[in-house]
Amino acid sequence: MIIVMDPSAEEEDIQHMVDKVERAGLEAILLRGEKRNVIAAIGDERDAVTEGWTAVRGVERIIPILHPYKLASREASPGSTPVRLNGAVLGETKVQVIAGPCAVEDLDTTLDIAQAVKAAGAVALRGGAYKPRTSPHSFQGLQEEGLKILSEVGRHVGLKVVTEVLTPEQVELVAEHADVLQVGARNMQNFMLLRALGQIGKPVLLKRGISATVEEFLLAAEYILKWGNNQVILCCRGIRTFEDHTRFTLSLSSVAYLKEVTHLPVIADPSHGTGRRSLVGPMSKAAVACGADGLIIEVHPDPERAAVDGQQTLTCDGFARLMKELGPVAEAVGREV
Ligand code: PEP
Ligand code: MN
Repeated sequence: MIIVMDPSAEEEDIQHMVDKVERAGLEAILLRGEKRNVIAAIGDERDAVTEGWTAVRGVERIIPILHPYKLASREASPGSTPVRLNGAVLGETKVQVIAGPCAVEDLDTTLDIAQAVKAAGAVALRGGAYKPRTSPHSFQGLQEEGLKILSEVGRHVGLKVVTEVLTPEQVELVAEHADVLQVGARNMQNFMLLRALGQIGKPVLLKRGISATVEEFLLAAEYILKWGNNQVILCCRGIRTFEDHTRFTLSLSSVAYLKEVTHLPVIADPSHGTGRRSLVGPMSKAAVACGADGLIIEVHPDPERAAVDGQQTLTCDGFARLMKELGPVAEAVGREV
């Protein structure tokens, strides 16, 4: 990091700061300028105790050089860290698609959807058993019954199961039924939940918070990694902007950027990212074209009757068509679906 001293900093302030840098285990190189003095602190600043340094007398500002996320960064792990879902691998050549209803509704509907998405080439079944709804009056999900339906259907059809966990207390129960535990956008910075998920031996699908920067998103992933679990899938599901023609703004530049800076697999959610059925196909193709390792898509046999998010849900046929259309796009960028 670079520590820029204030023009009014006294010699003893500079020396005090140099001592602080050295005590933190970094090498301090003092660069004397005509108007200002600058201290270059050499070493991994993320291991050093640098908190509060901006408050030290004589310090004007501090410019970090390294990304604050360390375990998630490509600097730490130059290859990629694929997430394995038994036979399937997320984060290698094949673009993996997770599909299913927004919320689990009943056994028969879940089974119909699972069979349809499996036939179309999906690797995993999604479905919320615990639904984080904006309004407490809205359907909150079938909860434990929903988990049982998911695991039964997943086993029967031969699909992995992805479902959301809302609290640290639920982790154990959800992990009994699911293969991948999802952290919803509204929970991205639920640090106790992230820590709990760091201690399970199952992959975590972490969604970007609607107002989170990419750096905050990666630091949320960093919690799961730091607490011991490197099976983390990052999911770009749209952020809140001033735009109102879509439910959220699906930031595909962040998909491409994340692929540059992290070794973790990155997927996109064009259903929540747009909130409009007609845009799910085009944005799925765009996501694959810009390097997404996978997609998570809402599917229901009769979206009009879906308990949640019907407006952004594909029919089973629509999903099967999209899967076919994704093939040439994937091929054009050296991938397959
Ligand atoms: C979901 O995938 O069911 C969901 C609630 O998504 P998000 O957290 O991205 O809103
Ligand atoms: Mn939904």
